Amino acid sequence: MNVLYQSTRSSMEAIPASKAILQGLSNDGGLFVPTVLPKLEKDIKDLSQMDYRECAYEVMKLLLTDFTEEELKTCINNAYDDKFDTKEIAPLKKQGNAYYLELFHGPTLAFKDMALSILPHLLITSARKNNIKEEIVILTATSGDTGKAALEGFADVDGTKIIVFYPKNGVSAIQEKQMVTQKGKNTYVVGITGNFDQAQTGVKNIFNNKELAARLKDKGYIFSSANSINIGRLVPQIVYYVYSYAQLYKSGQIKKDEKINVVVPTGNFGNILAAYYAKEMGLPIDKLICASNENKVLFDFFNTGIYDKNREFILTNSPSMDILISSNLERLIFKLTGDDYKKTAEFMNDLSQSGQYQITNEMKEKMEAFAAGYASEEDTGKVIKKIYEDTGYVIDTHTAVAVSVYEGYLRETKDNKKTVIASTASPYKFPVSVMEAIDPKYKNMDDFALVKKLSNISGVEVPKAVAQLETSEVLHDRICKPEDMETLVEGLLI
Ligand SMILES: *Cc1c(COP(=O)(O)O)cnc(C)c1O
Repeated sequence: MNVLYQSTRSSMEAIPASKAILQGLSNDGGLFVPTVLPKLEKDIKDLSQMDYRECAYEVMKLLLTDFTEEELKTCINNAYDDKFDTKEIAPLKKQGNAYYLELFHGPTLAFKDMALSILPHLLITSARKNNIKEEIVILTATSGDTGKAALEGFADVDGTKIIVFYPKNGVSAIQEKQMVTQKGKNTYVVGITGNFDQAQTGVKNIFNNKELAARLKDKGYIFSSANSINIGRLVPQIVYYVYSYAQLYKSGQIKKDEKINVVVPTGNFGNILAAYYAKEMGLPIDKLICASNENKVLFDFFNTGIYDKNREFILTNSPSMDILISSNLERLIFKLTGDDYKKTAEFMNDLSQSGQYQITNEMKEKMEAFAAGYASEEDTGKVIKKIYEDTGYVIDTHTAVAVSVYEGYLRETKDNKKTVIASTASPYKFPVSVMEAIDPKYKNMDDFALVKKLSNISGVEVPKAVAQLETSEVLHDRICKPEDMETLVEGLLI
């Protein structure tokens, strides 16, 4: 079956996956969605015999139908290799009654690596398929994590360059060190003397500057972004839900067709949307439990049917979930309207005009597969401490939000189906919050000292990416004013 991609906001003609990956966002501002979600073909016995890469091929070939077998397998093999510190790529660990799907074994210790390690390969393959000869220049503004994951993904990928802008005084010491020590002859990291919004506005202005684009095209460059709404990031995320289900079956934890629940700590709604797509493709998932931190805009949405971003933005210890506009929710809204682009466009227009929209009762009824909850900062810390004391297992703050919400869900529903918890970051990425939660005596210690303590108490070896960081050489020291970003980019490329 040939799967094409259409916009959530207009009747534009549907396009093949490679074109949607190259374009990222539709010209009408909508997101690309598959016109149909194909059903999984292989049965669970076959899937359970596959390793991660084989499973990735089985899932991705159903959605990226204009890629040849060889193209797709090359992308997969280049992505899921020894960049990951375990052969299983996404191991499933049982602790207590839950199964933790560890999505943090990639180079930056967080789940963004699952998609950003393959996106560059999907992108250059898409360029080749569409006869694009220019070198692809990725521009990204980052508040910390995505920039590093994108740098790792694109470093030394032929046919690409990547330029990352970060607010010079707006990221953590570890995050800055991670970026400025980035290797790769095609990588550029630039500190902005401004905040994240200014960096992001600067990048948007560069993308919108048609004259600059024309000048650079003459020199053999085109711009692209590694944005989280690209289907080249979404599709690879479906894989690990299928893989984890197959692993549960393989180890005899579930019977054929037994339904499971999944809990996902959620920000931009990308990860949980991938789980929803897996369910729609026939994976036996019952409930999709959406976990928010104190920025609980999604919890309110699932309860009331009203999405309302007009509220205080709260800085929490799970910063990758501090989001008030969950962009990928648009893809669910589109589904709930019965694939109605007019209605979807209206909701999104309301959101940009007034900061809110309300879905119909009929749409609300279609969300019964979802449950939602949120965790306070206090709940999150308590859960980290409790799990450590009960099992010796140390989880990060984002995963702790998921566990806390799951515990609330269990108390309320007594739904004891086997449950997979998406574990989205390594505790080594957030040593200060994690160690303070376990014992207040770790307060005010520096990151690197806490990393060693964390290793002592958990018995988990310090990941290479962290161990090397303290002594890594600084390779990037460019600083620029927000208003000079464009000139700097042109200077770097020409
Ligand atoms: C990005 C991120 C999330 C949120 O994922 P979404 O796909 O944006 O919902 C959760 N945890 C961590 C550690 C992340 O980096």
